[in-house]
Amino acid sequence: MIDPQNSALPSSVLAYIGLGSNLHHPDLQIQQARVAIANRLAGVIEIAFSSLYTSPPMGPQDQPHYINAVMAIRTTLQPLDLLHQLQQIENIQGRIRQAQRWVARTLDLDLLLYGEQQIHLPELTVPHIGIGDRAFVLYPLQEIAPDLTIPNLGKLTDLIKHCPLNGLVRIPA
Ligand code: ATP
Ligand code: MG
Ligand code: MG
Repeated sequence: MIDPQNSALPSSVLAYIGLGSNLHHPDLQIQQARVAIANRLAGVIEIAFSSLYTSPPMGPQDQPHYINAVMAIRTTLQPLDLLHQLQQIENIQGRIRQAQRWVARTLDLDLLLYGEQQIHLPELTVPHIGIGDRAFVLYPLQEIAPDLTIPNLGKLTDLIKHCPLNGLVRIPA
């Protein structure tokens, strides 16, 4: 379970990242991203990592199913710096940005939560805009942080009650 007092990084913030992939060996993409975040980003340590899940695509349906997971980190990076580092990892792993939303991609890294902060910047909204109603975010979060409360939205357990699985399946380790 997540220890909010973890002191390995003094003055750090507990943040959550949503990972998704549906191209070019998605399970390996997620694993590679986990290593990049946990082992190669200065000012970040991994606190918890959920199981992998498979889920049908949002938006355009003519694309493969996704592999999703959620990760808890502690970080001394400021929110925008963390976002930019995550985008760089997406780029390194071959993410091609398209004008159309929710199309197939090698890697999507979304900053779900940054402590209890609410952030409204042109390039960053936290909590992430989809956190409250996406099964592939809520169920993995429940696995690693069942007592979580999401700023402005309330308890994770209450959000889950109103969120059907929508085809989400946990992949046994
Ligand atoms: P969604 O955000 O609905 O899950 P997506 O992940 O496919 O869709 P992207 O193409 O990855 O969307 O990102 C689009 C823009 O969203 C980025 O340019 C980024 O600046 C912005 N953005 C805003 N808030 C966040 C956040 N919390 N995490 C990641 N990106 C964010
Ligand atoms: Mg996304
Ligand atoms: Mg994204």
